[in-house]
Amino acid sequence: MGSSYMGQYLEVDLTSRHSYICETDADKLELFLGGKGLGFAVLAERALYSDPYASETPLILAAGPLTGTKAPTSVRSALITKSPLFGGALDSHVGGSLGPKIKSAGYDYIVIAGRASKPLVLRITSDNVEFIPGDVLWGKGVFEVEGQLRNAFPGSSVLSIGPAGENLVRYANIGNDLYRKCGRGGAGAVMGSKQLKAIVIDGGNKIEYFDPKLFEVLNVELVRDVIAHPARQKRYEQGTLMWIRLGQEVGRFLPTRNFQDCQFDEYENLTSENVARELDWQHTGCEGCILRCAKHAAWDGKELEGPEYESAAFLGPNCGVGDVKTVAEANWLCDDLGLDTISCGVTASFAMECFEKGLLGDAAGLNLRFGNGKSLLKLIPVIAHRNGLGDILAEGTRRAAENIGKGSARFAMNTAGLELSGVNPKGCLSAGLALATSDFASHTRLWTATDEMQGRLALDDTLPLYVRSGQDKVNLRNSLIVCDFLMFGLGRLLPLLRAATGMEKTESDALQVGERIANLARMFNCANGRSAQDDTLPDRFFEEPMTAGLLEGQLLTRELFDTLVQQYYRARGWDTDGRPTNRKLEELGLKRL
Ligand code: SF4
Repeated sequence: MGSSYMGQYLEVDLTSRHSYICETDADKLELFLGGKGLGFAVLAERALYSDPYASETPLILAAGPLTGTKAPTSVRSALITKSPLFGGALDSHVGGSLGPKIKSAGYDYIVIAGRASKPLVLRITSDNVEFIPGDVLWGKGVFEVEGQLRNAFPGSSVLSIGPAGENLVRYANIGNDLYRKCGRGGAGAVMGSKQLKAIVIDGGNKIEYFDPKLFEVLNVELVRDVIAHPARQKRYEQGTLMWIRLGQEVGRFLPTRNFQDCQFDEYENLTSENVARELDWQHTGCEGCILRCAKHAAWDGKELEGPEYESAAFLGPNCGVGDVKTVAEANWLCDDLGLDTISCGVTASFAMECFEKGLLGDAAGLNLRFGNGKSLLKLIPVIAHRNGLGDILAEGTRRAAENIGKGSARFAMNTAGLELSGVNPKGCLSAGLALATSDFASHTRLWTATDEMQGRLALDDTLPLYVRSGQDKVNLRNSLIVCDFLMFGLGRLLPLLRAATGMEKTESDALQVGERIANLARMFNCANGRSAQDDTLPDRFFEEPMTAGLLEGQLLTRELFDTLVQQYYRARGWDTDGRPTNRKLEELGLKRL
């Protein structure tokens, strides 16, 4: 019988320029499935106490059991490493064609450790691993590097870093296949610390199925239902940018001027309808995806896919910038220089608030007022190259505030060191709770805004339970791996998993996988300094009445938030300090780290 698992993984040591093929550990697959879970298990074995920039800290590219199969949205893959920004376990997920290429190269996952003595391009195919000199590419932007490597190796998936990764900007990300990005939390800087400019992957292996006929039948039904689903059309027409209008008009949680407000006067400029016109949007998507939620934009000789909602919200309203082409240009610059648009946008808005409050002097003449798009465009390269003030801001808001002092920490919008993302918690309490309790403060851990906006949540002890089980479900999806935007859950995915791999998982087994990953991440993060004191939000959210949602018009008190966090710990089986108990670890088959 076949299986969609490839049965082996690749170890690459950049220091010695050796690589090894090893058998995938079946017990790990049983416990963690693949993707995020498998990557975290490997990371915990290799880098529990190591510095993110230490040679031994691995960069892990992981596929899941559904990656590369015919299942809708299963093109995605996970990138896992240790974050130089917040110090914990980092996972990021990317579409493009990377996931299927990891599988076609013959691997369930690839572990890249060590440090090259000179800039390097790593090329992985089914029958070879090559270490190609990368000196001529060092210093170049992502679009040029990926363009050159895609021409040199047609059909391959390419990952690369820009100058931000080379300069160890703590929120440098990684480009993929020109227009896809991954690595929030600084995976690009980890790659830069290894002098690894790019990775090129291709292969000729085909995926096998445990029960190919059953998989085909189940998949045809799922594809049919995805196509007929009412949510599909809106996602196809408007992409994620639909959240600009929803965030302003319905949810009233659009992050604005460094999270001071939830409403932005110029939001209409950034709605899907306007951006489609101004940037000549064409529908596109990850390889083979039937949802095609991505949008190819072209303007003034530049191209990108997007702007996606998060990039637009944090480089736009959160910096007070409403001009569509300025926001697109800022997004393009971040993509080319290899910066995470969210952390860069929030760090820029932090600098703007500090500047307006007189904490940055003349900010090297940058005139960093909210709404000054020209200054934003000048600031982004300054950060990527760590010039002057950029060197301070390249460290992220938490460290930048420590450096600037003068009370600037009040304007540093991060939880446990990662800049907040998604929506403004001032208009969405559940998002605040999810951001504060997740393994890191990213909207990708759990998107609660739709449920709160539509009145499906209650402010009682069901809220922490909802957050806990939602996080577990997302962990599971990120290990299978399917996209967040697939509208169907375990009832449809587990039969596919069985037909693909032969693995029998009940819904409760599968949810326990998600829970196991949350507990493993928590232990890893606690070992790296995360504590109950970090499971909160910046002061700003406890000082003014909430604008919308469960607590509309009321003040969110610290007492209430702490009570919700304690209820969350109880729902997780953690102690009052937010640490997994021995009993919980035993139940999940985990050893204390
Ligand atoms: S829904 Fe969008 S992000 Fe998800 S796999 Fe499809 S195109 Fe990619």
